[in-house]
Amino acid sequence: MKYYSTRRCAPEVSLSEAVVRGLAPDKGLYMPERIERLSDAFFDGIASLSDHEIACRVADAFFGEDIPREELHRIVCDTLSFDTPVVQVDESIRSLELFHGPTLAFKDVGARFMARMLSHFIGSGAGPVTVLVATSGDTGSAVANGFLGVEGIDVIVLYPKGKVSEIQEKQFTTLGRNITALEIDGTFDDCQRLVKSAFLDEELNRRFRLTSANSINVARFLPQAFYYFIAYAALRRTGETREAVFSVPSGNFGNITAGLFARRMGLPVKRFVAANNRNDIFLQYLRTGIYSPRPSVATIANAMDVGDPSNFARILDLYGGSVEAIRSNIEGYAYDDDRIREAIGETLESTGYLLDPHGACGYLALRESLRENEVGIFLETAHPAKFLATVEAAAGRKIDIPQRLAAFMEGEKRSVELPSDFESFKRYLRQRE
Ligand SMILES: *Cc1c(COP(=O)(O)O)cnc(C)c1O
Repeated sequence: MKYYSTRRCAPEVSLSEAVVRGLAPDKGLYMPERIERLSDAFFDGIASLSDHEIACRVADAFFGEDIPREELHRIVCDTLSFDTPVVQVDESIRSLELFHGPTLAFKDVGARFMARMLSHFIGSGAGPVTVLVATSGDTGSAVANGFLGVEGIDVIVLYPKGKVSEIQEKQFTTLGRNITALEIDGTFDDCQRLVKSAFLDEELNRRFRLTSANSINVARFLPQAFYYFIAYAALRRTGETREAVFSVPSGNFGNITAGLFARRMGLPVKRFVAANNRNDIFLQYLRTGIYSPRPSVATIANAMDVGDPSNFARILDLYGGSVEAIRSNIEGYAYDDDRIREAIGETLESTGYLLDPHGACGYLALRESLRENEVGIFLETAHPAKFLATVEAAAGRKIDIPQRLAAFMEGEKRSVELPSDFESFKRYLRQRE
């Protein structure tokens, strides 16, 4: 399968090139040239398939031409080493819990898949690949854990000193093995600048095989389609006959875009709901037809604090640039911090279900969006305990911390402290050789 750039000013590339490059040279995002419609027989029988069987069928449609079948299925099954259950919250709303992976957030799926696919493409030749990733918190943990112990890959996580939460920091500084954490005396933007400069630096590129594990990478983004099919099958198993609406707490819009791909593959989804916090750029676009990015504001659903969602380009491309077409498939809603806090408290009280601040936006949006004879599924994108202080205050009580999360807290932090100038970073990389 070939991949083209959303800007269409770069050559089409193979899957392996799209994965190693991440971003196209014209700064567009890679898109697969075809989206295969799965057969009616597949959907008719989906309730009797296992999660792994479903995911393998979806993976075949995208990657089957480029990776030998057995190897691809091994990658899929390794990736989904944890469940993605659908849990009933109330009469018409279900939660698709995507927080049962190693870092308790949905990004585990994409990161684990990408690590394994990259490892497949680089093979055993030409020495290790060095993955550079700048993080403001959550991406670093998903990428570090996704790549942990994967052969032929070294991961260097750059993060701003003192600017990530303790639990986030522990999730990528305690791992050791092929993961190194660099604690940069600066901001997230400084970390990102160092990574970008490294990719442009001739000497470093001669000495190292550098790549990024950015969330726009097709190998991180496409596997997120798996769990829409898996959730649909779970609904069917409960005898559900109402039409399904998916609500997705959205920041960079990668997760929801993977859902749109699933629908193109024939998944019977009535519509999608994009749930935002106060960073409601997409909602404003739906209302006005004008896309106007603006600087993000900080909220308690901080993984959605995005002012210029990178996957917007993919959504536009999927719908031929037509806002009417987009409106016919996606509704938008947005909530401020007070409303999110209230929803966490109210929902716990009335249903016994504990939301995290991101899932709370997805849940609220379904409450507004659902109509007669529809069942809503929101993506619960992270475990509430990852946002302990916020959630405990909103819920008005202590909450249990899962063992996997507690285990990170007990690990010993190891990091390399560096100033934020490029020369120091370069010197550090050189001496690693
Ligand atoms: C990254 C993230 C999101 C936003 O997902 P996008 O694919 O960027 O829209 C939502 N919730 C949580 C917990 C996240 O970590």
